[in-house]
Amino acid sequence: MTTEAEAKLEIAQASRILFGEAILDAFGHVSRRHPDRPDRFLISRSLAPGQVTPTDVLEVDFDGKAVSDAAPRLFLERFIHAEIYRQRRDVDAVVHSHAMGVLPFAAVPTARVQPICHMCGFLRDTPSPFDVADHAGPGSDLLIRNSELGAALAKHLGAAAVTLMRGHGYTAVGASIAEATYRAIYTARNCEAQQSAHVLGMPVYLTAAEAEATEASVISQITRPWDLWCEQYPVPADQAA
Ligand SMILES: [Zn+2]
Repeated sequence: MTTEAEAKLEIAQASRILFGEAILDAFGHVSRRHPDRPDRFLISRSLAPGQVTPTDVLEVDFDGKAVSDAAPRLFLERFIHAEIYRQRRDVDAVVHSHAMGVLPFAAVPTARVQPICHMCGFLRDTPSPFDVADHAGPGSDLLIRNSELGAALAKHLGAAAVTLMRGHGYTAVGASIAEATYRAIYTARNCEAQQSAHVLGMPVYLTAAEAEATEASVISQITRPWDLWCEQYPVPADQAA
């Protein structure tokens, strides 16, 4: 059973990993469903991911409001997380990224992310990119700034692991913070390999059955990359309490 303190440390740890792997930069964020309150989640205050410590992590409800009265500034796009947790009971962690390697697939209408190798079977049901203009109208800043846009994004994600967001980035989910972190990293790696393969010719992607089987294999070993990344990108000991 994960405690709230352990969950906050997990968020700080995942933030460091995703920054170290160039999935997040000064922007983007990672969250986790609250271990004791499934109707709330934990996310850092508005801060660059590489600087997040457990003391920066706050409890937020599904309306995007901090539970504490004295809460500092929150991420503008916290509604991505809130509405996915509201709609997907199987999801316990969410990563939102603007990684440049993924953006071509979110910008070219005919491009589709497809699993190109056995590490990326989770991408098999990735929908076409979410277009915020369908919901916010033309001329928005593309950010998921409120519950309505968050709900539209969560509905678009459906039962998938990842959704791309036109002109913006992508959002990956998982049943644990290790799984969501893995998926966020390997979405970017898949996009880079897929684009490279297209230079050579038309790739042969994993079949749906292969993607499902390989995903099960990876999930059974999900602690291996997580443990490696924790060692590679540690939260400084004096900040981990
Ligand atoms: Zn964003």
